[in-house]
Amino acid sequence: MSGDSLARVARDVARCERCPRLREWCRLVARTRVRRFQGQEYWGRPVPGFGDPAARLLVVGLAPAAHGGNRTGRVFTGDRSGDFLFAALFRAGFANQPTSVARGDGLELRDCYVTAVVKSAPPDNKPLPEEVLNCREYLAREWALLPRVRAVLALGRIGLEGFAAMLREQGRMPARGRLAFGHGLAHDLGEGRRLFCSFHPSQQNTFTGKLTAADLDRVLRAVRRHLGRP
Ligand code: SF4
Repeated sequence: MSGDSLARVARDVARCERCPRLREWCRLVARTRVRRFQGQEYWGRPVPGFGDPAARLLVVGLAPAAHGGNRTGRVFTGDRSGDFLFAALFRAGFANQPTSVARGDGLELRDCYVTAVVKSAPPDNKPLPEEVLNCREYLAREWALLPRVRAVLALGRIGLEGFAAMLREQGRMPARGRLAFGHGLAHDLGEGRRLFCSFHPSQQNTFTGKLTAADLDRVLRAVRRHLGRP
């Protein structure tokens, strides 16, 4: 899209109404809230990606959390998944601080941009296939506007498949065959780009020990090596 910018994508995302089920859910959550956040104003709208426009690492998650990004207006911000992810990005030198609690909390991503395949919080964290499809345009625009990216970190299978489907649509991947998903697996995307897989840092995975901090650090070390960072 000529004249496009990350700021324009963010504006378009924030006012998007393409998925009625998700928009209704986000508004309902924002109205009813949970007890611990009763006194807070929820964002209640789709949540754009954010980070360094010159990023070489793109992190692709599933979707904002109902009381995380849907509350704070910044993806992976204000929930346990984000606590886990940003602490790891900080340890790996991709963030200036290990916490992410609210927009305006001073967090800066360095050489890194974080987004999700679905920009509105879905009930039970499960978007429908047509909702992933509806949202693909925004991921594609972010991808086009981040030309320095050389490493993509897909968090979870839906992150991987959503991202791969976007590349396929652009003819940048073979139309057939699925990319294997597994923690620590990596795939060559051509042109010096590599796609790394990690289990999603959801509480379901981190509380059960399926994904530990050391596991995520290992993948981020591989990302750093690929980017030529010592
Ligand atoms: S999920 Fe994406 S396409 Fe659907 S309403 Fe939200 S921003 Fe729009």
